[in-house]
Amino acid sequence: MALIVQKFGGTSVGTVERIQEVAKKLIQFQQQGHDLVVVVSAMSGETNRLLSLANELNDNPQGRELDVLLSTGEQVTIALLCMALEQQGVHANSYTGSQVRILTDKTHNKARIMEIDDQKIRNDLAKGHIVVVAGFQGCDEFGNITTLGRGGSDTTAVALAAALNASECQIYTDVDGVYTTDPRVVAEARRLDKITFEEMLEMASLGAKVLQIRSVEFASKYNVPLRVLSSFKEGGGTLITSEETEMEQAQISGIAFNRDEAKLTILGVPDNPGIASQILGPIAKQNIEVDMIIQNTGHDGTTDFTFTVHRNDYASAMSIIKAAAKTLSAREVNGDDKIAKISIVGVGMRSHAGIANTMFEALASEGINICMISTSEIKISVVIDEKYLELGVRTLHNAFELEHE
Ligand code: ADP
Ligand code: ASP
Ligand code: MG
Repeated sequence: MALIVQKFGGTSVGTVERIQEVAKKLIQFQQQGHDLVVVVSAMSGETNRLLSLANELNDNPQGRELDVLLSTGEQVTIALLCMALEQQGVHANSYTGSQVRILTDKTHNKARIMEIDDQKIRNDLAKGHIVVVAGFQGCDEFGNITTLGRGGSDTTAVALAAALNASECQIYTDVDGVYTTDPRVVAEARRLDKITFEEMLEMASLGAKVLQIRSVEFASKYNVPLRVLSSFKEGGGTLITSEETEMEQAQISGIAFNRDEAKLTILGVPDNPGIASQILGPIAKQNIEVDMIIQNTGHDGTTDFTFTVHRNDYASAMSIIKAAAKTLSAREVNGDDKIAKISIVGVGMRSHAGIANTMFEALASEGINICMISTSEIKISVVIDEKYLELGVRTLHNAFELEHE
């Protein structure tokens, strides 16, 4: 019998009625002859609710206790889903991450899965039970509860699929697949039948939150066939695969965007060796991730230096840069935390020229100014004023005719 790992996201288990629907669906799958391991998220809104409780009591909730708190969301859903299954006469056992033993490193709030013990799961499957595992959590070597970062249930599902050598990992969510861009922003967005791991990884890294980045990394590394489907609508969804052949025709596969960006500029710093590390070193020391970096051509022995960070890190990055500016006798420091990044992604870029130009012309035709540009082999990203984000995404979707196959 084929073993499938299925993951149901927050909206799909958002009410008791929806949990009942999921239970019915699982029973049908089981009757078709599948062995089922099911991963569930917390009911929609629950993780945010728990976070805001933590924020009421602590200015900066983090670490071990935040993980103890957040992991309860998923613990509720696994129990409720098993009760719904039992009610319909099907045996099911629920497991938290630490009960399975999903062993992670010690990085609270953003832990990485190191190892999974599949023994309990295999024993249950052998008895014909459905196994329900809490997403988004594990435990470190000392038994402390850890969580995997927002959206982490996707990664739990893929990691289980890899550990159990499942024939497919199916991610059920509130859209019926991966689209050319977020369908909430562009109504004409088109569902893709297939997308490569490489493209999906770029899309996820550049802001498409339909899959957690690590789940795609994991699936690609262990070659787990990964499919995104709707919990509410029939259909084959989107298969994420390593093959490129058919898709190479398209220049661009999708557009991703990220609103959570901020940029900082330090003007008139001496144009000497070591300047970049003197500016960015202290930023890295504070564990602030830097995304794009631009250093202007030097002029009269000085230069300007601009970089982007996550908007949540803007205030801390600014105070670090102000201190660096004094030491370096920089002329001025400025910044903007109302910027956004739009990226076009596609393996077809490797073999097509002129894509960047189409992108820049389309944005210019709408009067959208580009503040920063960065490119890699299969993506081009631009930073623009946040207020033009939606217009920019729609304009590019049109310019590359992504609504048509
Ligand atoms: P879940 O709670 O099931 O994990 P998420 O909210 O994490 O669901 O992910 C699904 C959402 O991802 C969709 O509702 C959609 O708005 C958003 N999304 C962003 N980019 C895309 C894309 N390119 N294709 C499909 N959905 C996308
Ligand atoms: N419940 C967690 C979150 O909201 C994990 C997940 O849903 O994947 O981020
Ligand atoms: Mg998600």
